[in-house]
Amino acid sequence: MLRIRNYINGRFHDPVGGEWIDNVNPATGEVASLIARSRVEDVELAVDAARSAFSAWSTMPAKGRSEIMLAIADKIKQHAEDLALAETNDQGKPLWLSKAVDISRAVDNMSFFATEILHTRTDAYQTDVHVMNYTLRQPLGVVGCISPWNLPLYLFTWKIAPALAAGNTVVAKPSELTPMTAFLLAELCIEAGLPPGVLNILHGYGPECGGAIVGHPAVKAISFTGGTSTGKTIASIAAPMFKKMSLELGGKNPTIVFDDVDVAHTARHVARAAFTNQGEICLCGSRILVQRSIYDAFRSAMIAETQRFVVGDPLEADTRMGAIVNEAHMNKVLSYIQLALEEGGTILTGGRRKHVDGRCAGGFFIEPTLVEGLSGTCRVNQEEIFGPVAALIPFDTDEEAIAIANSTEYGLAATVWTTNIQRAHGTAHRLESGIVWINTWLMRDLRTPFGGMKQSGVGREGGTEALRFFTEPKNICLQL
Ligand code: NDP
Repeated sequence: MLRIRNYINGRFHDPVGGEWIDNVNPATGEVASLIARSRVEDVELAVDAARSAFSAWSTMPAKGRSEIMLAIADKIKQHAEDLALAETNDQGKPLWLSKAVDISRAVDNMSFFATEILHTRTDAYQTDVHVMNYTLRQPLGVVGCISPWNLPLYLFTWKIAPALAAGNTVVAKPSELTPMTAFLLAELCIEAGLPPGVLNILHGYGPECGGAIVGHPAVKAISFTGGTSTGKTIASIAAPMFKKMSLELGGKNPTIVFDDVDVAHTARHVARAAFTNQGEICLCGSRILVQRSIYDAFRSAMIAETQRFVVGDPLEADTRMGAIVNEAHMNKVLSYIQLALEEGGTILTGGRRKHVDGRCAGGFFIEPTLVEGLSGTCRVNQEEIFGPVAALIPFDTDEEAIAIANSTEYGLAATVWTTNIQRAHGTAHRLESGIVWINTWLMRDLRTPFGGMKQSGVGREGGTEALRFFTEPKNICLQL
């Protein structure tokens, strides 16, 4: 059986402890490969390799780093089919989605930061006729990047690309639920000529392997994407060590639909925002706030759109929703559907585990589920479910919509649907959310700041924000 090994100092290594974890394909329930179970000893080796590589990598001209990263982006593009299949087999999402979103955005991540560093500027201040200040931005050293299972290669590259581009060396860990594409990426990095030790990829459990990366004194910064409770654990270790931290955490995102929209068009996009990737995107809109005057019409349209999310074998072209990432997560999502009933909700469509015949008989599938009749304050509408479950909530006034939208502890993303430009901007300005989309969803521009407010995170990624995070500013004052 294939073994997913650690990539340290440019070579593949078995874990020091010789232990392996089963890697299960969620669409079939079968063990597909074995994953290295890395612990503190493996982290030591990776950090040592990254420290040794830092001097040469950080002093290489930006153009040199850029060329190597562009070569990696090209390799990802050339191997897009294999990577997409690996992503789908690990994560459960439809194959077409892996190709269209995950792998293509991974290419974009690498090439964007590879070229961004060729165009950066720095600040200079003329303090006096004879005095000049300028800001030098220097890489931090060895940095840790830890990514989740929902968009595996997409979010892995979203972190490592700016870290490497800025001149840091990296110790990275993908989720142990979806390690395959990061493993394949290591091979592509070797082929692209990335010097040994610049990027080191470790596999294993979060608390054991991820925790050892976070707690290693030589790791200067942690860029983490994952759940809010894991973020708290990481912060409790890293903050007393005064490490820089970028934490991209959970969400419970509102979608606000005002009564001036085209109902059919909007329902199609709102359903897409709720159920894409089985609802396992931190940006999915799971609280759908609908103005009461169009509520009945919108509900009918949403039921129809939800039912168009055909659940099935992720390898089939007409499948719109694949498997939930693992059995434990499927059971968690199902428990929230049960809770919705206990809290007085009505299931409009879906609501059950879905059994798919053939090769997927042992897989973990759930029907896309739409609920109504729940208050904005109940647990189903407050806690992150991270699955294909969305709730319709009626509202009367703009004021009320904004209050419900802001009523959770999260503040990651919000979407507003309206044709009234004043209402659109007025609402967007008042939402407690790091990202607001108006009449669109998941639209990406890599230059924009990305991240959440409140319990959804600390710091911003993307564009110059990411390059700033991965560098330390130093002010130099010169008396002429
Ligand atoms: P987790 O928090 O469980 O895990 C995220 C990563 O952290 C994984 O690689 C995990 O490893 C690792 N990890 C777990 N425990 C520790 C620890 N104690 N120390 C160091 N690393 C650790 O999140 P999920 O993988 O379940 O991802 C889903 C969550 O991610 C959702 O809450 C979602 O909202 C959020 N998310 C946020 C995004 C954003 O941009 N704000 C984007 C995407 C997802 P392992 O899995 O191997 O245990």
